[in-house]
Amino acid sequence: MNSNRLNPLLATSLALFLTAGLPLASMAADHAAPAEAPAADAHAAPAKKPASSASAAKAMGDQVREAVEAGGTANKRITLVVNGKEKKFITMPAKPPAAAAEAPAAAPAKAGEHATEHAPTAAPKHAAVAVNPKASRAYIRAKAAAMTGHESPAAVDAAAAHHDGEVHWAYEGANGPQAWGQLKPEFNACAIGKRQSPINIEESATLQGPAEPLQFNYMPSSGSVVNNGHTIQVDLYGDNAITVRGSTYKLLQFHFHTPSEEQINYRNFAMVAHLVHKNPEGQLAVVAVLLDPGTTNALINKVWTYMPLDTNDRVRMPVGIIDMNDLLPKDQRYYQFMGSLTTPPCTEGVLWMVLKQPTTVSKEQIKLFSQLFPRNARPVQPVNGRAVRDAQ
Ligand SMILES: [Zn+2]
Repeated sequence: MNSNRLNPLLATSLALFLTAGLPLASMAADHAAPAEAPAADAHAAPAKKPASSASAAKAMGDQVREAVEAGGTANKRITLVVNGKEKKFITMPAKPPAAAAEAPAAAPAKAGEHATEHAPTAAPKHAAVAVNPKASRAYIRAKAAAMTGHESPAAVDAAAAHHDGEVHWAYEGANGPQAWGQLKPEFNACAIGKRQSPINIEESATLQGPAEPLQFNYMPSSGSVVNNGHTIQVDLYGDNAITVRGSTYKLLQFHFHTPSEEQINYRNFAMVAHLVHKNPEGQLAVVAVLLDPGTTNALINKVWTYMPLDTNDRVRMPVGIIDMNDLLPKDQRYYQFMGSLTTPPCTEGVLWMVLKQPTTVSKEQIKLFSQLFPRNARPVQPVNGRAVRDAQ
């Protein structure tokens, strides 16, 4: 009798836990949703990748919710597996409280159509209870979509393309890189420029010789993270600068592309960070830090922590949290050439320095970014006889 009285309390607290846990799972659940995107769309890919910790949390949530919703069978025991390590055993009540049982009814009906797509990422073999998974997953999906206000990157692109009647550039489709130069007169350089970026750097064709070291004067700073619809960008507040070729350029922002836009000997890297600097004359200097899969990148972890969920959403980071030195490789030799912005309006006259030594980014960090931006890299452009220095 005593345990029967306690069971509804347990179920209620589990339901509360699930509700509180939804924001953590929402990003992965939201952007991994291929079913809302066109079937052939590249955005569908992330959902087939292995479970992240967020989706693991979601899987755990699914199991508990299913168990609560299932009700009917008394004293079922489920196993929760978190990151493949922690296990907790919970004995479920004979009857769920009314509130938990009604929760799925709040979900829009259409969400139920796509209920099975996360099945590979769940851990059903550890669950002794698996009743009505469609309703529970659909509910979490609908809730996650409602909280972030959109359903997939494709939906965001479509909305951005229509909200103000303007033409917007993209990385694929009719407004993709091949069309940028025709979208607006001010994007002309994208089509007719002769010093465009990115390029493939062919080492055998570079000018090898002595060059000044890049002087980085970076210090702990604050910044804000913005999702501009094309990338995740950190706008920096603080005195960060580089000195090169007799000029000091202040660091304005950095952002990411996947895969790397730059190629070295026709090879792309998993990602690249572009550090955009400007000198008092208004000239731009971009330092590219190539990112290879490996150990977790501490600085990127901080950026992802404050990653906005929606286009044009901006999240302010704590003061002093960003130290750009953490992103730089030990070996700071570089390739140097003149190029352009790699996004419209593709303005030329940009001094590029591509650091030769990549730094590392974990597979999980790459996965999270590619769930938001599956591919945001302009293809390489003709070198057109440009001098590319290989600074020794
Ligand atoms: Zn860039």
